[in-house]
Amino acid sequence: MVSLSSVHWGWCALDFARKGRLLEQQKLSATSPPSADEQLAFLAKLQRVFAEGDFTSTYKFALLMALADLSVEHGQDDGSDLRLSIRQVAEQFIALYWHHSAPYGSGGDGTNSGVLIQNNGAQAAVLSALEDICDRTGTSTLTQALKNPQYNELVGKIATTVSAKPLKYMQNFGGTTQEFLYKRDGRGFICLKPGIPYCLRRFHPLVQQLSRTHWIDHIKSNKYNRSILGEGNNLEDFHFGTPRRSLVEIAQGLKKVDGNRCFYCQKTMNDKDVDVDHYIPFSLYGTDFTHNFVLTHASCNRSKSNTLAARPHLERWIERLTRHGDNLIEIGFTAGISTDIEAYFHVMHWAYGNAVAGGASVWLEQGKYQSVDNTYMGILLAQ
Ligand SMILES: [Zn+2]
Repeated sequence: MVSLSSVHWGWCALDFARKGRLLEQQKLSATSPPSADEQLAFLAKLQRVFAEGDFTSTYKFALLMALADLSVEHGQDDGSDLRLSIRQVAEQFIALYWHHSAPYGSGGDGTNSGVLIQNNGAQAAVLSALEDICDRTGTSTLTQALKNPQYNELVGKIATTVSAKPLKYMQNFGGTTQEFLYKRDGRGFICLKPGIPYCLRRFHPLVQQLSRTHWIDHIKSNKYNRSILGEGNNLEDFHFGTPRRSLVEIAQGLKKVDGNRCFYCQKTMNDKDVDVDHYIPFSLYGTDFTHNFVLTHASCNRSKSNTLAARPHLERWIERLTRHGDNLIEIGFTAGISTDIEAYFHVMHWAYGNAVAGGASVWLEQGKYQSVDNTYMGILLAQ
């Protein structure tokens, strides 16, 4: 999930000189990816976190999800470490917990409606802080909150909680600390250890799903939530079925940039047959970036579904960025969506890299797929 906050309004999509320098730095600092044994050791440790960790609140699950997302958006596919500010982690927390701060349930069938408790004692401080900013500023959506002057203060408050709670206790096993994921790196920063960003990128779906499942179980097992939950519930949808952003505003902006031609088949669309598609499927990475949206026929969108797009589309996407990068940033700015092209490129590398590693097929056109190979990574690295 993104750092909705790492919105870099001033970034120029065509600042390839800067990107070139970044890639040079990456090459200079590149180290080998973790070996198979090291990756297994990471998975074994992750299993220990879930099996032996002391979960008095849901924070550690959020922390794992946040670190996995930040690794996708900023990490490398080699053995590098990754320095992160605790404020970056805090912003991920805000995005993750935002929906949780709304009352759950209708209050029907003998249940009460209320905000679910996510701590074994009093309500988790992160949720109280989110409820507080909504009450004080009258904001109801995260997009509104991001634009509110009090958002910075909120990030600072959440960062303090993140530092004092989950970052402090995540790596505790049986009373001792084993720094297998990160270490503190100066005031306000942590550093993911060498190879950890690689593992969190490689095993991102696994980390996310394990964390979500345990998070939901934690809420269900809290006795204070029983009167709200009742018998049946749809907690997973409520907490993690991130409602897709209203795409009307984005569609209007994209139409000015792309006209009425379908991004995939390049044929004309009529107004009744237009979808806004997530180029990297929403099911694969559920954070919105302005560069990830394209206009398509509804039928092309349905056919592509949750698959990555094949080479001609990737090349077209890059060409579009070259021609319309600044317009896309403007659309993102208006809609309150991240315009961080650097982070989005990392998401692209991650998505296609995992597809290559998993021997996946990618979508070419209605009913036609291709095998994905390393040449895709070459196309992306050339940018
Ligand atoms: Zn089409």
